[in-house]
Amino acid sequence: MTFERSTVDLAVVCDSEGAVATILYDSIGVTCQRGSSFQSLVDPASQGRASDFLAELRVTGSVFDVEMNVVSRHLSETLRFAGGFTGTGYCIVGTRANPALGLMDALDELMQINSEQLNSIRSILRQRETIDRKARVRAVQDFDEVKRLNNELVLAQRELALQNAHLSTTLAELEQAHAEAATQRDRIERASSEILRSNQELQQFAYVASHDLEAPLRNVQAFVELLDSNYGQSLDDRARRWMRHIVTGTKSMRALVSGILAYSRVETRGGEFVAVDMNEVVEQSRSVLEAPLRTTSAILTRDELPTVRADPIQMKQLVQNLLQNALTYKGESAPRIHFGATREGSAWKVSVRDNGIGIAPEHHEQIFSMLYRIHPKYPGSGLGLAICRQIVNRHCGSIWVESEPGEGSTFFFTLPDPAASKTDAN
Ligand code: ADP
Repeated sequence: MTFERSTVDLAVVCDSEGAVATILYDSIGVTCQRGSSFQSLVDPASQGRASDFLAELRVTGSVFDVEMNVVSRHLSETLRFAGGFTGTGYCIVGTRANPALGLMDALDELMQINSEQLNSIRSILRQRETIDRKARVRAVQDFDEVKRLNNELVLAQRELALQNAHLSTTLAELEQAHAEAATQRDRIERASSEILRSNQELQQFAYVASHDLEAPLRNVQAFVELLDSNYGQSLDDRARRWMRHIVTGTKSMRALVSGILAYSRVETRGGEFVAVDMNEVVEQSRSVLEAPLRTTSAILTRDELPTVRADPIQMKQLVQNLLQNALTYKGESAPRIHFGATREGSAWKVSVRDNGIGIAPEHHEQIFSMLYRIHPKYPGSGLGLAICRQIVNRHCGSIWVESEPGEGSTFFFTLPDPAASKTDAN
């Protein structure tokens, strides 16, 4: 603030109501505070004039040279006042000196300062406007973003609703499929228990029929042989040939009947499962088949075989059938038969390899069916491997062959490992 002391003693800015907003200059120490009325600057005797001064200022915009006493630090001072309207309030100056021109200059200066203040206020307002505008733009942008997000949300909700509907349909379909599967399972369970029952009946029937057929067949064979030995000489060649046919036919019928009997016994007359040393089983079979082994000059070898939990009689029958087949279906050279064993998960896999005539792949499955024979020129009833499969099935294992014609055959069967079953149980 640059008022000359000689020119101005008091300079204030009042708002439009006449309340003191700023004391710009005060050389005499008036007792006044910001916010109090302009009238409070002057002493009681001058207050009427102060009100008139303000009223005139409001109406005319500028007033000069009005004398009023102000209450200063020291005494009551007489000042000459001039004022002007700034647009938002009033600038008022007071001086003890007389020259009105000086007062005018001071007022001009004050108005100018005031207009500088106004300018800075305007610039602040402009800045404020800019900020507001930016804020509005930002708000619009934010609103657009919120709108966009909202749209995305709505789309996502729709997608979710669609997926939900799809899931509900799938769930309903699954439930239906589940219900159908349960019905199907019930049907299968009923059918399989029916099959089991009729299978048992059939086995029982096969057992009874073959058992009951054995004796009459044995009698037919015995009596035909008696007839041949006692009366054979008195018969002509044709009659003797017929009798030989009867004996051959009866023998093969007996083989068939005993095969069916053995087959039906696997389930109906099966023995207890105990620890069975497969090395011993092979050695016992070697003794039983000693004659054919010798006559064919066969070489029978084996690895160290495992001990399994099985029906010992059925293990003998299984090994014997496979060994017998290896001898029966031998090739040109002497049979070489080898028993081996490897672990297969929790079971043992036993193999019986020979160097015989081999089996074409199209027969690999069917040879395990009842009465299936590939080579009618060889003796046999077509029951040996069916019995083997029945035995292995009873031991929860499986049996199969790997072979090519002329390359020999390897039969495999699996049997549960007792050690593994114990570990499982633990
Ligand atoms: P079979 O009493 O006729 O020997 P199997 O059920 O034991 O009846 O065998 C079925 C068929 O499988 C046999 O007729 C034979 O053709 C074939 N076969 C079985 N074992 C062997 C083998 N080791 N080598 C070649 N063929 C075999």
